[in-house]
Amino acid sequence: MRLARAGLLVNCRLADSQWTYSEGTRATIAIKGGRDRIVLRYRFRSYGQEWESIEQPVPTLWTPCRFGGERPWFICDVRANGVYCGRKVTTLYGGGRLFACRHCYRLGYAVQRVGPLDKAHHNLERLHRKLNAHYERPDLPAPPKPKWMRWKTYRWMAQQIEDGRERLDEAFIVGAQRILASIERVDHRRRSRR
Ligand SMILES: [Zn+2]
Repeated sequence: MRLARAGLLVNCRLADSQWTYSEGTRATIAIKGGRDRIVLRYRFRSYGQEWESIEQPVPTLWTPCRFGGERPWFICDVRANGVYCGRKVTTLYGGGRLFACRHCYRLGYAVQRVGPLDKAHHNLERLHRKLNAHYERPDLPAPPKPKWMRWKTYRWMAQQIEDGRERLDEAFIVGAQRILASIERVDHRRRSRR
């Protein structure tokens, strides 16, 4: 609505939108206006990667208002976790590389809550209890052998803890990748050719 009021959706105008995050970082995004779509231009850097320039076209849709006039919507034109969205929304979020609707970003959080990571931690807790130790973090050395335990048993337990840590790492990597749903652009040209 703000873009519409600024006249951005009527003319093919170019505008810069700037904002400042609480920690002081300033961000800029260039918006090329238009009635059927706008184009967002910005730079993005994923952790440990180079900056890249991104140009994301966002289709817009106009619907009549009840008391006359019409109002604009964004179409969330991305694929989140492999599924095309296409929702009509008022707000797009820039939580990752591309702008997408709340629903698309939530997909990432929902998957993360299901617990391979939790399960891996619980398993390590259980193993530590058997060694009479308190489990704090996976990166600490394995607890020492309790006096009453046979070495053979202890070595087996220590190996179990080692394996458990490996599973924890795997679960963490999978979880981290899913925190942000994988959001991709949809190539309409390729789709219509089929
Ligand atoms: Zn979406």
